[in-house]
Amino acid sequence: MTMLLHACCGPCSMYPQEVLREEGTGYDMLWFNPNIHPEFEWNRRLVNLGKAADHYGVKLITEGICMEEYWKGKTYIEEFGSRCVMCYDIRMDFTAKYAAEHGYDSFTTTLLVSPYQQHDLIAKTCEDKALKYGVDFRYYDFREGFRKGQNMAREIGLYRQKYCGCIFSLEESEFRDKIYSGFTVTE
Ligand code: SF4
Repeated sequence: MTMLLHACCGPCSMYPQEVLREEGTGYDMLWFNPNIHPEFEWNRRLVNLGKAADHYGVKLITEGICMEEYWKGKTYIEEFGSRCVMCYDIRMDFTAKYAAEHGYDSFTTTLLVSPYQQHDLIAKTCEDKALKYGVDFRYYDFREGFRKGQNMAREIGLYRQKYCGCIFSLEESEFRDKIYSGFTVTE
């Protein structure tokens, strides 16, 4: 039986992958992150997740597109209450559905490694989606390994981003101008 590990980026995948490998859990990784904007950043994070998958010899499934215009719309505010609620909902809904439809026995997400994300909301969203699609959600508090994972990413030369993902978080980032001019952090 195999787990589906939703992965938001290469650096955040490193520690969760190490945990799963140490406990002997087989897994494939899934890239589904339409929240990452602009498109050059969507591509850059996907390329670096590919490097993280290759590092461990793991299968990487890539789904979805960059949906910058959707995130810029306003209708989701009424439906979900906030863009972050929508962001978790869309990604975890797709992940749980994909896991159920493709024979995975469980799923989890690398979003649970970040101390900067809404950890409890992510876990609750995953629990709801697990019930909806009839597939197990495996909860991990990966946050204790966040720094270790970032160091592992640095050691293999992965790009480490300086903003959450959507165009709004980029606009709010102190690195905004550098990022638009091609700024990368790997060292
Ligand atoms: S801030 Fe992060 S979690 Fe919130 S909508 Fe943007 S990319 Fe998604």
